[in-house]
Amino acid sequence: MAKDLMPKSWKEFPDGIHVEVKDQPQGFDYITAGWRTFRPEVNLDKCVHCMICWLVCPDNAVVVEDGKMTGFFYDHCKGCGVCANECPVKAIEMVPEVK
Ligand code: SF4
Ligand code: SF4
Repeated sequence: MAKDLMPKSWKEFPDGIHVEVKDQPQGFDYITAGWRTFRPEVNLDKCVHCMICWLVCPDNAVVVEDGKMTGFFYDHCKGCGVCANECPVKAIEMVPEVK
């Protein structure tokens, strides 16, 4: 936006557009893992259930049951590797996705 056209306050901003997506899966039903090339695998014998992987996962793809980390939602995990990088006991390994 040109500087002289910039509103003086947020109240002067024009309405934006509202995009409605019909008949598409939303939220947790939306499968976002199609482009993963590596997948995280956890060694539960090493896991100390600190939940750091759950905290740092950008896709909410860490499964927690009864306060314990039990695995991954592979329909949502994009394979970014943040969980493996941050796990303090190196219980998560990134392995190549085999199709
Ligand atoms: S970060 Fe590592 S130790 Fe902590 S819950 Fe996840 S897998 Fe287990
Ligand atoms: S690899 Fe990335 S997206 Fe998948 S569980 Fe770990 S942090 Fe989440």
